[in-house]
Amino acid sequence: MFKTHLAFGLLISLLIVNTINVSYPIIFVILVTIFTSLPDIDHPKSKIGRKLFFISWPINVIFSHRGFFHSIFPPLIISSVLYYIGLKFLALTLTVGYIAHLLGDSITKEGINFLHPFTRFRLQGPITTGQTFEYIIYISILFTDLLITAKLFNII
Ligand SMILES: [Zn+2]
Repeated sequence: MFKTHLAFGLLISLLIVNTINVSYPIIFVILVTIFTSLPDIDHPKSKIGRKLFFISWPINVIFSHRGFFHSIFPPLIISSVLYYIGLKFLALTLTVGYIAHLLGDSITKEGINFLHPFTRFRLQGPITTGQTFEYIIYISILFTDLLITAKLFNII
């Protein structure tokens, strides 16, 4: 799922850069794509969780995987702090990347509870993580990423 999240984060950031005037578009795209992996900090065996296990492990024990850190509250809280201390660009890219991850997880069978812990409603989809259908989606998103990038740089 890690690569699919990155590809989807890249897609969302490219669509935004292609639609509205964003300052520092290349940095915007890079940061959004990086921040797309952030919510899986709540899973010690995820790519980011393995790198930051000293943060990931306690988060996983306290909040569990796809709990609070897979709701809309962490990006709102973290971005509010960043915005308040004047890091508005970072706040924007973090919010977009984080929410792109949540949208990606919401089409999986395990699903997402966007308002955890206040509701029990999980938004779910048909995708099983790591199976053929996810791979097809990943390739399709990657292909779209390439098309949009080529269009942005006037290659096609
Ligand atoms: Zn996730």
